[in-house]
Amino acid sequence: MNSPWIAPEIADAEVAGSAPDAAARALKIERETHKLEKRLCRQVGQAIMDFGMIEEGDRVMVCVSGGKDSYGMLDILLKMQQRAPVSFELIAVNLDQKQPGFPDHVLPAYLKQLGVPFHIETQDTYSIVKKVIPEGKTMCSLCSRLRRGILYRVADELKITKIALGHHRDDMLQTFFLNMFFGGKLKGMPPKLVSDDGGHIVIRPLAYVAEKDLTRWAAHRAFPIIPCTLCGSQENLQRKQIGNMLRDWEKQYPGRIESMFTALQNVVPSHLMDTKRHDFQNIRTTGVPDPDGDTAFDAPELHAPSAPGGVQLVQR
Ligand code: SF4
Repeated sequence: MNSPWIAPEIADAEVAGSAPDAAARALKIERETHKLEKRLCRQVGQAIMDFGMIEEGDRVMVCVSGGKDSYGMLDILLKMQQRAPVSFELIAVNLDQKQPGFPDHVLPAYLKQLGVPFHIETQDTYSIVKKVIPEGKTMCSLCSRLRRGILYRVADELKITKIALGHHRDDMLQTFFLNMFFGGKLKGMPPKLVSDDGGHIVIRPLAYVAEKDLTRWAAHRAFPIIPCTLCGSQENLQRKQIGNMLRDWEKQYPGRIESMFTALQNVVPSHLMDTKRHDFQNIRTTGVPDPDGDTAFDAPELHAPSAPGGVQLVQR
């Protein structure tokens, strides 16, 4: 669907056939970067539109950690702000958790140079977490709980209407599999939700964006990345394993990530087993043939065409 959120296509520059190699290469890189920028803007615009993320008059708090994803989110949202059909404000917010070695001058300098309104909230959650969590145990869950609470308070103080987080498509798929493998739930990471305290709307404008595109964009824009290992916490091993699994699948079966992500947007509760989502008890015959309906007795993958009009069972 066309929308003013999404920019019209701009013709890509042609690589001149007669240009020397270096110039042709430079032109090719420029063209690829231009395509990447268009894709990022289109995907962010589409997500904003599909999920009604930003409305007229919103004050959007863009949570910036110093990582590639949140830098990318701020960058693209600033571009969207110029062309959006509604007017909204962006306020970048960083929480300085007083991790040892955190370069607290980097973000203020960068944000000042961008000219975006920003707020740095300084709260020493690092000491609290260190005090409470025994050495060697992962600190992330307490750390994120504390961070969440602080960000909600700051959002209230700044009269924020939407809190934007920089999670992308791959984070969402990883979360889906983590919940399925370790939590026994078909549950992902929503592009828009009401916060757990019930008081805020959280949005994820990068919902359709692939992590590899954010990595390329960060390199192109030379964001002053702040490493995320300063706290010394162990990486979430399960998330890392799922990430590797998804990358391996994609390598082996190109397109699988795209297909799985599309599946998250095409849920068929009548073909799952959650009695809370579908009223199996009261299923009744309709008497009307449904050409898209399932064959009742056998799983479709058990059939292969044989003689005209017939099917043949295939051994698995
Ligand atoms: S990696 Fe460090 S800063 Fe990030 S959530 Fe975990 S403990 Fe907190």
